[in-house]
Amino acid sequence: MTAFTYRSGGLHAEAVSLAQVADAVGTPVYCYAGSALAEGYRAFAAAFADQNVGICYALKANSNLAVVGTLARLGAGADVVSEGEMRRALAAGVPPERIVFSGVGKTQAEMKAALTAGIFQLNVESLPELEALSAVAVDLGVVAPVALRVNPDIDAGTHHKIATGRKENKFGIDFDHAREAYALAARLPGVRAVGVAVHIGSQLTSLAPFRAAFKKAAHLVETLRGDGHAIDRLDLGGGLGIVYREETPPSVADYAALVAETTRGLGCRIVLEPGRALVGNAGVLLTRVLYVKAGLHRRFVIVDAAMNDLIRPSLYEAWHGILPVAESAPGDLVEPFDVVGPVCETGDTFAVQRPLAVPQPGDLLAILSAGAYGAVMASTYNTRPLVPEVLVKDDQFAIIRPRLDYAELLALDHVPPWLA
Ligand SMILES: *Cc1c(COP(=O)(O)O)cnc(C)c1O
Repeated sequence: MTAFTYRSGGLHAEAVSLAQVADAVGTPVYCYAGSALAEGYRAFAAAFADQNVGICYALKANSNLAVVGTLARLGAGADVVSEGEMRRALAAGVPPERIVFSGVGKTQAEMKAALTAGIFQLNVESLPELEALSAVAVDLGVVAPVALRVNPDIDAGTHHKIATGRKENKFGIDFDHAREAYALAARLPGVRAVGVAVHIGSQLTSLAPFRAAFKKAAHLVETLRGDGHAIDRLDLGGGLGIVYREETPPSVADYAALVAETTRGLGCRIVLEPGRALVGNAGVLLTRVLYVKAGLHRRFVIVDAAMNDLIRPSLYEAWHGILPVAESAPGDLVEPFDVVGPVCETGDTFAVQRPLAVPQPGDLLAILSAGAYGAVMASTYNTRPLVPEVLVKDDQFAIIRPRLDYAELLALDHVPPWLA
């Protein structure tokens, strides 16, 4: 997380003091470093410069218009999983011909919206979905460019809630039935099967599962061509992991070399859908210490951020680094604390027995590596206002999602006439 460093005793995002952001916007607040977003994308683009690759940023990692816009200006396409995300991608300036629509359950309204926008490709995950898409396309008088997402039955070696490439997962078309699915596609008037898609999971920290999946997908392209299908696109999904703690994910260069090795000679347009790898380490969640409470066996740091703002620790047992915004001195006392939020759930815990320089009420903490699957998963549980977001550029920052006030939050509910 090189964009987040201590300068003159205070943690900064680029040249902006996080204490200043917290004072101006309040806490909790997400803060993203624009330079880190750009660096992440440029590293990917550079590693794949000599391959026929489209980089379609997976919006579900972080779909704020300012984040997507930052990547779009550098040339990124988009991988979207809902009409809402597609609208965000278009609004942020991603051209339709760089948008891929993924997802296991697209509605017919979403298919219509995607076909009307004229996007690059729809990734279809089942035979009923293929038939529905064909019907929608025929109604519109168009032919939908389609990749079938196949399930290669490969263990991604990641947390079970973010593994997607096993037979028992809900995703994709069973690999052994792929040829029948393409045969059906060839008979349907509204779809043209132009590609094969795979995506085996998220936060992968080794190349081996990628290699196995890419090889299977490449082999399938050849088989399908043998069956007479004109397949010229191969979508390899996302999933490249990042460092939260001491993981050693593959470098982008090694990942690129693997893609080259496993797809060589196919002559396919390769689509990649990185999400986390582009944004995960470009953001922190800033939170203020409310209380330090001594329990019988443990001490708790109660902060003003909670699981509704960042759910990864409760949902995936995820580990996030935590740094004090005011730099601690080498001799400061460091003791283990449980860092918890105020929500009425035991799962509302950010860290267990974490060694921290003894915090005081009012201190600011930065929860690291929170750029991906952070703000996008936030809710208003416990009627807590949706967490705001800030984007930094050099020495400036802008609020890219304001905190709703309580009146706005309550106004979302409508009281029926019989209670008025
Ligand atoms: C979630 C998802 C991605 C992005 O995954 P990351 O691990 O964030 O890179 C890409 N493609 C599909 C189909 C997804 O569901």
